[in-house]
Amino acid sequence: MRISRHLITAIVAFSLGAGLVAQRGGQGTSIKPGEECPAGMTEVRPGNCQAPTIPPPSIVDYRPHSTLVTPGHPIQKARFPAVDFHGHPGSRIMSADGLAAMIAELDKLNVRIMVAADNVSGSRLQQAEQTIAGSPYKDRVRVLAGIDFRDVGPGWAQKAVQQLEADVKAGAVGVGEIPKSLGLSITKRDGSRLKIDDPDLDPVWDACARLNLPVFIHTADPQEFFEPIDNHNERWLELSLFPGRRYPADRFPRFEQLMTERDNLFKRHPKTKFVAAHMGWHANDLARLGRMFDAMPNVSAELGAVLYDIGRQPRVAHDFFVKYQDRILFGKDAFEPSEYPYYWRVLETRDDYFDYYRDYHAFWKLYGIDLPDPVLKKVYFANAARLTPGLPQSGWPQ
Ligand SMILES: [Zn+2]
Repeated sequence: MRISRHLITAIVAFSLGAGLVAQRGGQGTSIKPGEECPAGMTEVRPGNCQAPTIPPPSIVDYRPHSTLVTPGHPIQKARFPAVDFHGHPGSRIMSADGLAAMIAELDKLNVRIMVAADNVSGSRLQQAEQTIAGSPYKDRVRVLAGIDFRDVGPGWAQKAVQQLEADVKAGAVGVGEIPKSLGLSITKRDGSRLKIDDPDLDPVWDACARLNLPVFIHTADPQEFFEPIDNHNERWLELSLFPGRRYPADRFPRFEQLMTERDNLFKRHPKTKFVAAHMGWHANDLARLGRMFDAMPNVSAELGAVLYDIGRQPRVAHDFFVKYQDRILFGKDAFEPSEYPYYWRVLETRDDYFDYYRDYHAFWKLYGIDLPDPVLKKVYFANAARLTPGLPQSGWPQ
């Protein structure tokens, strides 16, 4: 069969024309390898950018409903009784009613012990301890002592150690949560920034070793909080919502500077047991946290408020938790009972692609990391109990 030259010409013309129309209709623009599409456009074919033909919703409004159908296993109660090592009960433990209401919530979640990491000291700590001791919930709450880092200079450490000893007598079982303002913003008596590894603080860390108290310490914040707030920052929405979480270079030390000071502190006090809050902000780089664990046997990590990083790498996180099962502690941070079940689901199940509880933390979904029971027990309670002699040591599952 012969195809006429006219027909071939017509087909070629049609194909070219269709391509041109498709490009023109979407306002097509070419880019070179390595270049990004101009604002308002997306790469629809290699090297070819196009704008949506209807106005796109903002990232605040875009909430696509997933059509994925898979088995799901939401969990209300932890499989084993848990210690929440990163509790912020606030005034709930200052009154009998507040305490009873909190314990009722913890019972629904199978959280056996709340560790209050509210940095309390002196009379406030005594009030909490008296409330707990006078309640039916003596073995349900433990309190960490706070250190007052104001006015560090000659004579400070001696007073701080005396106060710590008094707080331990009153019932404190550890120290914390050492706040991120240590390093970020607190100044010394002489006006300079109080560095995390300042030698003036050494007597306090030595006292923690002598008194066998774990030191629960929050250093810096997610590394993106120190980066420019642009369309490449994966915490853009959070930084936009909460201006206080931005740490611009002209006003704050850099993330790596703070990590260096923290690691100096950990290495200089090998007999002091440190628990790095929020997995040291390395949950997005577990290999780095693993190197820290290898180099610093006195360091453990708590997993509160970084569930978005654990749940987006289920295979790597599973292997990491198994390898470092003696070094990771469960903690929740902000007391919001409805949020604990997300932790159980990530840690205990092999569920795929489910929602996280805060859109502004993460634009992605979570996956279960399917920890075996012996690892779950360590993460939920055994590691906390081992590091903290002041926690109840009996009544745990075998
Ligand atoms: Zn906290």
